Amino acid sequence: MNFTKFVETKLNKKLSSLSNEEIYLELLNYVKELGANKTKNTAKRKVYYISAEFLIGKLLSNNLINLGIYKDVKKELEAAGKSISKIEDIEPEPSLGNGGLGRLAACFVDSMSSLGINGEGVGLNYHCGLFKQVFRNNEQEAEPNFWIENNSWLIPTDISYEVPFKDFVLKSKLDRLDVLGYEKDTKNYLNLFDIEAVDYKLIKEGISFDKKDIKSNLTLFLYPDDSDKNGELLRIYQQYFMVSNAAQLILDEAIERGSNIKDLAEYAYVQINDTHPSLVIPELIRLLIEKHNLEFTEAVEIVMGMTGYTNHTILAEALEKWPLSFLEEVVPHLVGIIKKLDELVGKYFDNSALQIIDESGRVHMAHMDIHFANSVNGVAALHTDILKKSELKDFYEIYPNKFNNKTNGITFRRWLEFANQDLADYIKELIGKEYLTDATQLEKLLEFVDNKEVGKKLEEIKFKNKVALKKYLKDNKGIELDENSIIDTQIKRFHEYKRQQMNALYVIHKYLEIKAGKLPKRKITVIFGGKAAPAYTIAQDVIHLILCLSELINNDPEVSKHLNVFLVENYNVTVAEKLIPATDISEQISLASKEASGTGNMKFMLNGALTLGTMDGANVEIAELAGLENIYTFGKDSDYIIDLYERHAYKSSEYYNNDELIKRAVDFILSDEVKKVGNEERLTRLHNELVNKDWFMTLIDLKEYIEIKEKVFEDYEDRDSWNKKVIRNIAKAGFFSSDRTIEQYNKDIWKSK
Ligand SMILES: *Cc1c(COP(=O)(O)O)cnc(C)c1O
Repeated sequence: MNFTKFVETKLNKKLSSLSNEEIYLELLNYVKELGANKTKNTAKRKVYYISAEFLIGKLLSNNLINLGIYKDVKKELEAAGKSISKIEDIEPEPSLGNGGLGRLAACFVDSMSSLGINGEGVGLNYHCGLFKQVFRNNEQEAEPNFWIENNSWLIPTDISYEVPFKDFVLKSKLDRLDVLGYEKDTKNYLNLFDIEAVDYKLIKEGISFDKKDIKSNLTLFLYPDDSDKNGELLRIYQQYFMVSNAAQLILDEAIERGSNIKDLAEYAYVQINDTHPSLVIPELIRLLIEKHNLEFTEAVEIVMGMTGYTNHTILAEALEKWPLSFLEEVVPHLVGIIKKLDELVGKYFDNSALQIIDESGRVHMAHMDIHFANSVNGVAALHTDILKKSELKDFYEIYPNKFNNKTNGITFRRWLEFANQDLADYIKELIGKEYLTDATQLEKLLEFVDNKEVGKKLEEIKFKNKVALKKYLKDNKGIELDENSIIDTQIKRFHEYKRQQMNALYVIHKYLEIKAGKLPKRKITVIFGGKAAPAYTIAQDVIHLILCLSELINNDPEVSKHLNVFLVENYNVTVAEKLIPATDISEQISLASKEASGTGNMKFMLNGALTLGTMDGANVEIAELAGLENIYTFGKDSDYIIDLYERHAYKSSEYYNNDELIKRAVDFILSDEVKKVGNEERLTRLHNELVNKDWFMTLIDLKEYIEIKEKVFEDYEDRDSWNKKVIRNIAKAGFFSSDRTIEQYNKDIWKSK
């Protein structure tokens, strides 16, 4: 039954007579019904991808695409005088993730379903998720982001578990989302555990709330501010709640499917996405001992046969180390097990750096994962190399066979088929639609590299996407975009290692050049988007600087003819879907060695933007695939940077004092022009940080960055040659399909058939 018929049968009404809101609700019901008719994947070994985040984005159109009916529904709506994009606007974006790590988990569940793998996501159903970002007085403010409506994609179940904490037991409930694979008859679930009664009244001003009322706040926010002890304890409560539910679900399902528990590893594999779900290891061991009467050693062996750990970062502050005393306060029943695991490590290895519990009584979650999982993977070739060579060297030496690389990927259904429909259609015209299930087919585009007409057509599509972005930004974000400008985009979480501040210094440089009469050939629009953690002061200061520059530059009639700067409010998946297809230049300028992989870089490549980046994360693989002559790389490499850190040899003041251009750009932060629109305390702090500390070495690469950007803009003027590069990039982007990544996980780690 098509959608029109569905509406007529159910409501006895014509589609054209419904409001957009009513149509959205009926589409929700329609898709849920189609989803309900699909059967579950059934391979014996089921994969449980446990993750504190799933940044899934809106689901309506993605589900329609995966069901293979997007275009039909779009046409039916058009015939009834309705526009599908207006209806897409009505859906609130689920707020279940921060950034790349959560988006990766979302792409992975899509790929597991599309490949027919029996694999599900397990996480938490945060009611306010990550905060909503609003700008006031050129500063970021955080507001709660309520996203769950009465009618939503969530499908309630009657599955519920009891999760024991030190002083009380908390009952869970499980809601699920259908994960419909691309043109597949089968499906998987995304399992989102929740507490029974979340109390919104605990929220005070902004996103501050009573952090101690665990029974009512556990799933209120994602990653509540952990800058104080109560915040840290709440994270442990969340993590344990997530993994205890996951472990109970795993055991129940395995038994139901015939496991005798001793053979549990044949029925289940647990992938630990970063360290947040690490407590699943001692929890599974505990349940095997307490509920299934196994001996400790036997339980440990079983768990070791069914867990893998993915490392996402080498940033020390992100590798979780919980004080044993905190675990005593929240989950004392795991402490004995963790101590015994630590003793086991001590028995086998005489190296304190390998212990789970360190001298100050802190539990290194990653160490527990590495010892007791059978696979440890990094997320890009360079990242895995750095883990082996430096960060986790001691571990690599004792477990060389555990370490493996799985370069991240993205789902092409969302990031091309949906987000860039004109480009997707054109690619189908050129090479057919097989690339949607076999992304390597994109290489067939190589045949067209020298074809100027194909290049021109891609240019037209890019322009059309700029026009569409212009409308979106005007209607939703109060931004006036010039569709005839070069669009240069940096969208990602704000963090010093990602170096938005370096891009801001470039903007200052360009502004000063324009003021001095050196005009660019074509107008440049620099777009930023991203949230900063509320407790991360310097990142907030960088946001402040960019908002000030934006006010200063866009309101200066002399400059704004040649340069615009925007920071798009509340960056999320929906915003990314609009910005990426319209972008010419993809800014991937992290300090080499610090960005584990990046996935934004892959989305841009696939959508015909050229990468301007450092040799970091998956940029290295982009460069290898596309060819160094088809992207723009600059800056010190990871070996050089790692060595500098080891020798404590970087001094930002030397770069500041010895280079006039650098000094001029940095000092402009404290100029009268900026101070007039800004907050002096923030600007002074940022200036001081750059000159005297600059932990992530902004100034080391600034000079080269300015130089290469000039080259990029110059190259852009040779349109045919630029278009050739674009075609080559798209043709080589197939490697970055998350289907490829997931196939590798399954072949090397999960072995689910
Ligand atoms: C892809 C994506 C990210 C990750 O971007 P990076 O540039 O890899 O850090 C973060 N947030 C959203 C909304 C995304 O879609």
